[in-house]
Amino acid sequence: MTNYFDYAASTPISSFVLDAMKPWEVNNFANASAAHQAGRACAQAIQNARECIADKVGALPSEIIFTSGASEANNLALKGVAFKHLEKKGHIITSSIEHKCILNTCAFLESLGFEVTYLSPSPSGQVEPADVVAALRCDTILISIHHVNNELGTIQPIGEFGAIAFDNDVLFHTDAAQSFCKCDIDVDDMDIDMLSLSGHKIYGPKGIGALYVRDARDSGLVPLIHGGGQEGGLRGGTSPTPLMVGLAAAVQHYPTTVSEQERHFLDVIENYKWVRNGGAHVVSTTWSLTFESDDEVKRFTQEHPWLISQGSACNALSNVASHVLTAIGLDEALARRTYRISLPPHHINGD
Ligand SMILES: *Cc1c(COP(=O)(O)O)cnc(C)c1O
Repeated sequence: MTNYFDYAASTPISSFVLDAMKPWEVNNFANASAAHQAGRACAQAIQNARECIADKVGALPSEIIFTSGASEANNLALKGVAFKHLEKKGHIITSSIEHKCILNTCAFLESLGFEVTYLSPSPSGQVEPADVVAALRCDTILISIHHVNNELGTIQPIGEFGAIAFDNDVLFHTDAAQSFCKCDIDVDDMDIDMLSLSGHKIYGPKGIGALYVRDARDSGLVPLIHGGGQEGGLRGGTSPTPLMVGLAAAVQHYPTTVSEQERHFLDVIENYKWVRNGGAHVVSTTWSLTFESDDEVKRFTQEHPWLISQGSACNALSNVASHVLTAIGLDEALARRTYRISLPPHHINGD
């Protein structure tokens, strides 16, 4: 798919990842919980994968809980903390430009009696640390703010959010689906208590992700899937060895150089009139562009029939302006002329 420019929605699986997975699909398909030799080999492969992912964010292997993806990881983080406080309930701080899986989980928790503050970003797409401080209450149980925005590419100051959470003895969770591997992350330096990541945004398989949980075993996090004790009792279900190995392989082989496609995009996009949304602090692989006019949109889309999204893929079928574009102040007309172009992900910086 040479005209594919929607990598923020999903990436292909790399051949290295596929090769790493294959033996665990075909040759050794044992249950990793089995006590026999084949089962132990699977368990060892999973342990290696866990170490690789933990290393990437400065965590311990025992703090990595495999899930089906970032959506489940986000659900586990938010509900897992909230369900600890079912009796007295409590207050959660998030932003109005989170991924729908965070916003819909928050709406669900509100229906149970929790209170949620949705912080609005600045017009550049940045969630302000001062707003987080102002939103804190004595019953705040969790701050959950994403790292890199999936529609704008804006990098949020998560180290500052983490420090605020730490100083106020509140848990801090970040959805890092759009930043994991792209940006350097250290859960200790950034005071991150929980972090969600996804395989299919980094050339890994679909259907696998993870939640980093600080001191997972003593966290008291309430599992969403009760099962046979897998993932430290926090996420039941037979371990999908190939997917877990594949996720680690994707981390190991994550590209560090700018893609040919990114260079091509930069050449092409120069020829059109647009304004880039998302402020100055953005990743180079996600571009939210508001074209100058409907004619300019037409010219661009006709000359370059690329597979791109208006807003994010999740909003694409609903035909309403995305909640992110609305939150940064775009009206219907501007939102209609706004497209997200996302390029093959690669390592970008140390933010
Ligand atoms: C893609 C994405 C998700 C969902 O991840 P899945 O692994 O597909 O469930 C969540 N948050 C952000 C920011 C994303 O970009």
